[in-house]
Amino acid sequence: MSALANNYNRRKISFKSGKGSFLYSTNGKKYLDFVQGIAVNSLGHANPHLVKAINKQSKKLWHVSNAFIIPEGEKLAKRLTKKTFADSVIFQNSGAEATEAAIKIARRYFYSIGQSKKNRILCVKNSFHGRTLATIYASGSKKMTEGFGPKVDGFDHFEFGNHKALKKSITSRTAAIMVETVMGEGGIKVVPDWCLKGLRKICNKKKILLILDEVQCGIGRSGNFFAFETAKIKPDIVPIAKGIGGGFPIGAVLMSKKVAKGMVAGTHGSTFGGNPLAMSVGNAVLDQILKKGFLSNVKKMSDYFHTELGILKNEFPNIIKEVRGVGLLIGLQLHNDQAKFIQKLMKNNLLTIRAAENVIRILPPLNVKKQEINLAIKIIKKVCLNYK
Ligand SMILES: *Cc1c(COP(=O)(O)O)cnc(C)c1O
Repeated sequence: MSALANNYNRRKISFKSGKGSFLYSTNGKKYLDFVQGIAVNSLGHANPHLVKAINKQSKKLWHVSNAFIIPEGEKLAKRLTKKTFADSVIFQNSGAEATEAAIKIARRYFYSIGQSKKNRILCVKNSFHGRTLATIYASGSKKMTEGFGPKVDGFDHFEFGNHKALKKSITSRTAAIMVETVMGEGGIKVVPDWCLKGLRKICNKKKILLILDEVQCGIGRSGNFFAFETAKIKPDIVPIAKGIGGGFPIGAVLMSKKVAKGMVAGTHGSTFGGNPLAMSVGNAVLDQILKKGFLSNVKKMSDYFHTELGILKNEFPNIIKEVRGVGLLIGLQLHNDQAKFIQKLMKNNLLTIRAAENVIRILPPLNVKKQEINLAIKIIKKVCLNYK
């Protein structure tokens, strides 16, 4: 009997080590890990550069309070702002904290300009922004909020893709629209560039803020540093997490100068957020992802992967309904429930993870090798051939 609570439905398997795209289980098996801690290990397991960085920092200084200047955090924030739309950064420890901080920042902005009644956030129904009380109610998901009332107020919802409903839902009390640029848990649904442009336009017209949740799709996963970049727009607030820590818990909110003005001293804080150990790892992750040619290689590998999966879809149209996603955030949508298929992939030593709408999420490390993609394709094909 486990002393852990039962809030996870865990597979009966555990691992003793990992290297790059592979995991080694305690019972002696080798797995191709295309979950990577749910898009967290952006550089694979035990990346030598990250191992070196964390070892080095761990001998110097782990944690000091945000009551002091933390040079490693100053450096990481500077690099993030230099690379992106943002002018300021607040560091957190997780995705939910980052999205929740994003909500606070949006509300605080309107408060700071004397419009405190503008405090509602408009979100996509059944989206995913984390598991804190506020973020579960932001998701508009019945399943995630069941039993956790009273309801946290301040969120309105529209159905993904329903532009009429979106426009109708904006009121004089709306402070911001918050969407995932690519819906992760919701089934790898990409918000197309023309919609992102439309969102920006509406927000400008209504003088409200645009929050793009890039916790899962950000930091190179899409083939660009941020998934929204292809739309050539600038959001106001962007929460990030998963990929930036490469396996170390880091969250952050990136924001424009305009909204950052509201976040004066004392308005927000985190004991652990942005400590020297985390920031050293974050900087080491950026060393790799910002290297010349890194993101173009992500694009190259993802083009190859998408093409190969497209071929499989044509070969097995009765099993595979659609290949979704962008970059190395890939969704394989089946016609039927995907659980059995995922189980079979695992039996054949390929780890993947579910998303909504019968989708199998495929999340290789961003430095995945072509022969590892080939191995995955071979395993998926084998499972398709034996699928009933
Ligand atoms: C994972 C995720 C979160 C929550 O991140 P946690 O670190 O689990 O709190 C928020 N938003 C999106 C889009 C995510 O994929």
